[in-house]
Amino acid sequence: MSGETRPGVVELKLYNTLTRAKETFVPLDPARVRMYVCGPTVYDLAHIGNARPVIVFDLLYRLLRHLYGTDHVKYVRNITDVDDKINARAAVEYPALSLNEAIARVTATTEAQFHDDIEALGVLHPDVEPRATDHIAEMRDLIEKLIASGNAYVAENHVLFSVPSMPDYGQLSRRPLDELLAGARVDVAPYKHDAMDFVLWKPSKEGEPGWPSPGGIEVPGRPGWHIECSAMSWKHLGETFDIHGGGIDLIFPHHENEIAQSRCAFHSGVMAKVWMHNGFLQVEGEKMSKSLGNFVTIRDLLADWPGDVLRLNMLKTHYRQPIDWTVKSLEESAKILEQWFDAAAPDAYPRPAPAVLEALADDLNTPKAIAEMHALKDHAGKKALAGTLAFLGFTEAPLRGWLASRAPELDIAPEAIEARIAERIEARRNRDWAASDRIRDELLAQGVALKDNKDGTTSWEPKR
Ligand code: AMP
Ligand code: ZN
Repeated sequence: MSGETRPGVVELKLYNTLTRAKETFVPLDPARVRMYVCGPTVYDLAHIGNARPVIVFDLLYRLLRHLYGTDHVKYVRNITDVDDKINARAAVEYPALSLNEAIARVTATTEAQFHDDIEALGVLHPDVEPRATDHIAEMRDLIEKLIASGNAYVAENHVLFSVPSMPDYGQLSRRPLDELLAGARVDVAPYKHDAMDFVLWKPSKEGEPGWPSPGGIEVPGRPGWHIECSAMSWKHLGETFDIHGGGIDLIFPHHENEIAQSRCAFHSGVMAKVWMHNGFLQVEGEKMSKSLGNFVTIRDLLADWPGDVLRLNMLKTHYRQPIDWTVKSLEESAKILEQWFDAAAPDAYPRPAPAVLEALADDLNTPKAIAEMHALKDHAGKKALAGTLAFLGFTEAPLRGWLASRAPELDIAPEAIEARIAERIEARRNRDWAASDRIRDELLAQGVALKDNKDGTTSWEPKR
């Protein structure tokens, strides 16, 4: 089967956190499908939990490009380079530098490390990767709009969003306000008119980075976290766009507050049509996080595993389910990838297999897609399997190199092995089964496993 799939023919269904339902995806403009994903705060090496949204939304990006055309999809993933955690790290890391210089070092270094790490994971680059500090003017603009519309107010050199000014605040997290207040550590501050109000802008302390403030505030200040994403998505995708993604922990308060800011500033009913959230990557039942200290960095894992194995291991679980990250599962993923490359034909179809595409179009059903890929390993599916591997961005050479490097050192040279194989073939021709078995056992004792093939030849591999 040639497996023809024309763009737009496969119906894409995505689970929308906003409606709590799987919906048929209808882009606002199919010629310009727009997706925003919250990126990292660059203060330290990213852990493998941080890689989950990167990998999940990369898969969605690949799928959207396939369905709508490469030039018709715009993917924006930001870099948050202004944050208290960055300031704290900078002061500790570079005590001899001014805080601003130290911050510039920390953010540049961490951003470069993040790029190296995720490049090794084999994900595509987003179309735009905006930095928060390059969008301060847009943030000020938004804040002025919110003050003018009565959705924000100035108090003690802060600008706060007034939650009671938005009657339908809370649609994404869908919990009563008092529950939200109890569940999330919402800062209590004397200058807030309402306990739920959140910071859009705050004054900079002595020595901290600062920019001219909005709202007639005379001291320099810096933005709150939520306003950054409203500003960057506005600048690069417009007032309303198609998909907004991130980890499940971002639903409240981050995404709820982004929605409040953008909808009130633009007097619109929606910020993004579809809100998607990946589940947690867990270690022994707990979310992997810096603060719990139960994390392993992407970098550490890349020292032991090919990036594609890490990526496949992430995709084995459906993106909305929690993942328990284990070495056993990584071993299994490496085996699966090896089997796929063993089976794939060299002349790949230039497209993914229809059954895989169909599974992915059903809210990124990767477990089903992987099962479909297993089914392609037999003769008829080999070209489609190769086309699917290419679509997913899996590459053979690094895996092969890794497998070879993992093989135990042999104390017998390959030429000597070949000579003994020839000797054994000769023994078999003479029906000297005892000699044939002895040679096989001697080689096995030297760490070499022989495999008699259907076509009468014999190959070998290091004994694992
Ligand atoms: P952060 O730098 O902590 O803001 O996180 C960057 C992204 O990684 C956000 O989309 C988070 O939701 C996501 N994230 C952080 N920890 C995990 C985890 N353990 N599992 C899945 N996603 C996570
Ligand atoms: Zn964000």
